[in-house]
Amino acid sequence: MAASAAARTIIENCAIATVDANDTEYASGYVVVAGNRIESVGAGKAPEGLDNVVRRIDGTGHLVTPGLVNTHHHFYQWITRGLATDHNLFNWLVALYPTWARIDEAMVKAAAQGSLAMMARGGVTTAMDHHYVFPKGSGDLSGAVIGAASDMGVRFTLARGSMDRSEKDGGLPPDFAVETLEGALAATEETVKKHHDASFDAMTQVAVAPCSPFSVSTELMKQGAELARRLGVRLHTHGSETVEEEQFCKELFGMGPTDYFESTGWLGSDVWMAHCVHMNDSDIAAFARTGTGVAHCPSSNARLAAGIARVPDMLAAGVPVGLGVDGTASNESGELHTELRNALLINRLGAHREAALNARQALRLGTYGGAQVLGRADQIGSLEAGKLADLVMWKIDGIGHSTIADPVTAIVFGAAAPVTLSLVNGKPVVEDNHLITVDEDAVARDARAEAQRLARIVAQG
Ligand SMILES: [Zn+2]
Repeated sequence: MAASAAARTIIENCAIATVDANDTEYASGYVVVAGNRIESVGAGKAPEGLDNVVRRIDGTGHLVTPGLVNTHHHFYQWITRGLATDHNLFNWLVALYPTWARIDEAMVKAAAQGSLAMMARGGVTTAMDHHYVFPKGSGDLSGAVIGAASDMGVRFTLARGSMDRSEKDGGLPPDFAVETLEGALAATEETVKKHHDASFDAMTQVAVAPCSPFSVSTELMKQGAELARRLGVRLHTHGSETVEEEQFCKELFGMGPTDYFESTGWLGSDVWMAHCVHMNDSDIAAFARTGTGVAHCPSSNARLAAGIARVPDMLAAGVPVGLGVDGTASNESGELHTELRNALLINRLGAHREAALNARQALRLGTYGGAQVLGRADQIGSLEAGKLADLVMWKIDGIGHSTIADPVTAIVFGAAAPVTLSLVNGKPVVEDNHLITVDEDAVARDARAEAQRLARIVAQG
C-alpha cells in the first residue's frame, strides 16, 4: 500500500532531539508517524494537507526523543530484589544462585511483566532480557518472557543464556543450577528457530548468550559463537566486570578476559558484552578494531562495587556503547531513564572528570548507542524519516523540570521525567504516565505473589 494509505499520528509544538548523526534538534517542531514508520521530522508546524490523520497531539511543554533502548537485563531477578545488598559480585552470586535455581515458568512470567512494566513506563521502547537460569522441569521460560514482552507491546531481544561450568568444574554456580553443553546448545538453537524474526520491523529477536567466563565452559563459548554465526543472530555475554573475574581468567586460562574472548571467537561486530569495567588500552583497542559493542550498566557496577567502565575512552576509540539496567537484583530501581543521569555522573568520577560525558552523549548512549549494540541502528535509535516509530514524549514543564531551560539537560541532569506518551512500532504503550497495554496494579500484585512463593520454596529447602 502507498504511504498515504497508512494512518497518521502528528505530534507538534514540542522540542525534539532526533539523535541523528548531526545531533539535529528543534526548539519547536513536529513528528509525523505513518503506520509503524516515522514519515517526517522537522522544525515548526507539520506539513499541511496530510490525509488519514487519526490523531493530532499538542506537544507543548514536552521534549520528544527516540525511545530508550535497554541492552542488558535479567528479568527473573525482579522477584529477588533487595537481597544480598552489601556484597561484591561473586559473593552476591553465590548468595543468590540457590534461590534463582528454584524459579519456574509462572515466576519468570510475573517477573518479566514487572521488569518490562517498570522500564516501559520510563520510556523504554526496546527491551532485552539475558536469561541464563533454566532449572530442570521449570517449563517454557523463553516463551514466558517473549509472551510478556509481546503483551506489553515493546520491541524485544531475548538473549538465550546458558551455564554449564559449575562448582565441580571450577565454576561459580552450584552443580544443580547448570545445563549440559549439548542441552544448552540444542535449546538455544530451538529458541532462535522458533522466535527470531530478522525482518526490518521485527518485534522479537533472539541472541545466543552463554552467561560469563566463570559459569560457562570454553567449549560452550566456542560452540555458542559458531551456532550464532550459523544461524545469523547476535552474541551476548558478560565480560570484564570485576577484578575477581580478571583473576579467575588469568588463573584458569592464563590470560585476561578480552584475550580469552578473542580466543573463543567472541570479539566481532555481531557481539555485545555487558559491563566491560576492567579494560586496559589494548582491550579497548581490540573492541574498537572488531566492532564489539558494550552494554554500560553504571548503577549495577556501583551497587556491586565493580568499578567505573571507561566509557569516554571507548567512545573516543569508536566502540559502540549502549546502556543497561542490568538485573534488578543488582539495580533495584529497574529503570533506564535514570541510567542516563547515572552514566554521566559516574563517568565524571573517573579519569576524565567533568569532560567525561555531556547530556547529549548520555542521551545518545541510551538511544542510538543501544540500537547499535543490538544491531538495529538502521531501524531504531534516532528520529529520522523511514525509521520505525519508537519515540517518547517527556513532560518537562512540570515541577521537576520547568526551571531548566535546555530540554536535553532537563531530562538527563534532572529528575526522571514523566512520560506523557510513548509509541512503539507506531502504537501507544504509555499515555499520561501510565501503561495502557497492561494493568499496572495486576502486574505489581502478581509479581509480589510470585516473589513470596519463591521465598517460601527456598525457606522450605
Ligand atoms: Zn548482568
